[in-house]
Amino acid sequence: MVLAFYTASIFIPVIIIIFLAIRMIKHRVADVMLCLECERCMGVCPLLLKKGNTFPGPVNIMIQAKASAAPDKFDDVLLLCTGCGLCSRACPRGLEPNKVLDRLKKNNGV
Ligand code: SF4
Ligand code: SF4
Repeated sequence: MVLAFYTASIFIPVIIIIFLAIRMIKHRVADVMLCLECERCMGVCPLLLKKGNTFPGPVNIMIQAKASAAPDKFDDVLLLCTGCGLCSRACPRGLEPNKVLDRLKKNNGV
């Protein structure tokens, strides 16, 4: 009985950690969580350089992805992104907001 308890107390947390790791890899959550929200990507986005544009910028793509973007919360204004990839090149962490947006669109059936 005691042995079963100790075995369970070791294996159950390990199984939970493995499950969460697989889930993170599957949903590519990890890279989004690495975003520092430093806004370096914002300085190069051509849409933000245009005056009067309502595009919220690549950092908001990352923030929305961090919030796991429930379908009813997907912000259609993000669709203005042209996918030019300049934000990805500027990111000090090698993150790719434009590809994150592609995943968001796919997850939300856009
Ligand atoms: S995506 Fe990269 S550049 Fe943009 S806010 Fe996050 S860490 Fe900074
Ligand atoms: S890919 Fe989209 S978010 Fe990134 S710089 Fe280009 S227009 Fe802006």
